[in-house]
Amino acid sequence: MRRIRTNLLILMTTVATSAFAAPRIHFEVSFKEPQAHYAEIKMEISDLRQDYIDVKMPVWTPGSYLVREYAKHVESVEACDADGAYLPVQKISKNTWRIASNKNSNVTLSYRIYGFEVSVRTNFIDDTHAFLSPAATFMYVDGMIDHPATVTVIPPTAWSAISTGLEPVSGKPNTFHAADFDILFDSPIEVGNQDVFTFEAAGVHHEIAMVGGGNYDKERLKTDCATIVEEATRIFGVNPNKRYVFIVHNYQSGGGGLEHLNSTVLGASRNGYQNERSYVGFLGLVAHEYFHLWHVKRLRPIALGPFNYDAENYTTSLWIMEGFTAYFDNLLLRRCDFLNESNYLQALSTDINTVENRAGNKVQPVALASFDAWIKYYRPDENSANTSVSYYNKGALLAMLLDLKILAATQGQKRLDDVLKMAYNEFYVKKQRGFEEHELQSLIEQVAGVPVADIFQAAHTVEPLDYNSYLNAVGYELVNLNDGREQADLGITMSTNDGRTVVTGVNRGTGAWDGGINVRDEIIAINGERLDANGRELNRVMQTASIGDELRMLVARDGKIRELKITLGKDTKGAFSILPLQNASAAQEKLGKIWLSLD
Ligand SMILES: [Zn+2]
Repeated sequence: MRRIRTNLLILMTTVATSAFAAPRIHFEVSFKEPQAHYAEIKMEISDLRQDYIDVKMPVWTPGSYLVREYAKHVESVEACDADGAYLPVQKISKNTWRIASNKNSNVTLSYRIYGFEVSVRTNFIDDTHAFLSPAATFMYVDGMIDHPATVTVIPPTAWSAISTGLEPVSGKPNTFHAADFDILFDSPIEVGNQDVFTFEAAGVHHEIAMVGGGNYDKERLKTDCATIVEEATRIFGVNPNKRYVFIVHNYQSGGGGLEHLNSTVLGASRNGYQNERSYVGFLGLVAHEYFHLWHVKRLRPIALGPFNYDAENYTTSLWIMEGFTAYFDNLLLRRCDFLNESNYLQALSTDINTVENRAGNKVQPVALASFDAWIKYYRPDENSANTSVSYYNKGALLAMLLDLKILAATQGQKRLDDVLKMAYNEFYVKKQRGFEEHELQSLIEQVAGVPVADIFQAAHTVEPLDYNSYLNAVGYELVNLNDGREQADLGITMSTNDGRTVVTGVNRGTGAWDGGINVRDEIIAINGERLDANGRELNRVMQTASIGDELRMLVARDGKIRELKITLGKDTKGAFSILPLQNASAAQEKLGKIWLSLD
């Protein structure tokens, strides 16, 4: 009985498939009012005969772990059939529209999107260009993420260029194909008059699309980006793309980036390219986002793909994905010789200072920082420094410890690069799935030949990191230049605006914390002396103050004056620096050279 029934089902399925064509989804993007920051979207759904069709707008975009509610910028949603007759559309959740399609085989949904937020993950449209963040632009049919889609862009006549990682459809101008909606949502589109130039590296055709102008040197940029591409490819041994697109948004002052499978969007300062420091900072961003094409876009934790576009996607492993990437972006700059040895060690020391001088490092394990990225990292407030740690900075430090431990355990034969290359082959290429944290740990232990549980456990606790047991092995040591210093500390951060000195942060465990100073308090006077327009009196008092001194502080809080008595504590902030270890052995020095060398 069971057997017959199964056969019957197969027969029915076969008949159903051959009788109807597979559903097709095509988008058309046009711009009637770009100056008012609008784009018009038409979504044609063909050969999907259902009583109703639910279409949804993603609530977030992968790589940026915050529910952004892209549906809030959607308006004028309408649907019609092939004859142009309107079909009822009902909104059934914050990001879901139900079209009463009534078994029509051709349904066109149209809507407008508003985009006026400058960032790498939100739409921006004006009379000069449009940046379309796909998760904020294209809707999907509920349950059909794995279906292909095509997109035709109709730019205003004054715009001449379209830059995107999507595959062009031959014979159809300005039309692109996505194998599924994961690809579509991972492929931002820039439309306008951007300056596009190309280079070849690691066997991949690269396009750089410069939006907004700037004082960049095209030839230097091509050469330097090619060097980064070659170095990054050497780590993984293979570059999986045929074509890769850098979309660079140049602003008066900009930064930040978002990674995609075969493209990235970067923010930069328009006139920062001729300043050496700021240029190297930009190259660091290029290295970071490019490294991600392997590490997070392909080699990834199980939670990060396939994605749920309808809610938060939780993972404790962002310290591995963002932290390792933050470690390797600087390491790539070192290997490309954009950073000399001393500047590279300085960059690492800066990470250590950032982590160790943040009170939240003693409160939040970095794995929890990853899990709570959605509500904490992406939603900082006045107390964040006291309660949270960055999975970028601390993750980078844990990556450093792992790299050093592997180098020491294998006498310089292996390092973290080898683990990532193996993990890429094991999980992305062979198993075609994400990894569990313990699986990555096992792989590292296989390469190192020694346990690394101490470092993985450190990601889940707030125990202090023993940097020197790892740094010493490669001939370096971490020194706190503030050791033995007896300096009084008030424990606040402030800003001075319009002659008012206002508290912006109160550090946990300090005199200000114990004495009840609040964020947003305006400091009027200290020890009976009125602060001047630049708040100088406070600096003068602090320069001569001793630990244990009591300060009388007059503050204005919500329109009322209060006097607070603050007892100054000891400044516990460290000034950490990685320095060569005195009397290092030849073996230690050799490992240090391998760690920091150009190859
Ligand atoms: Zn990143």
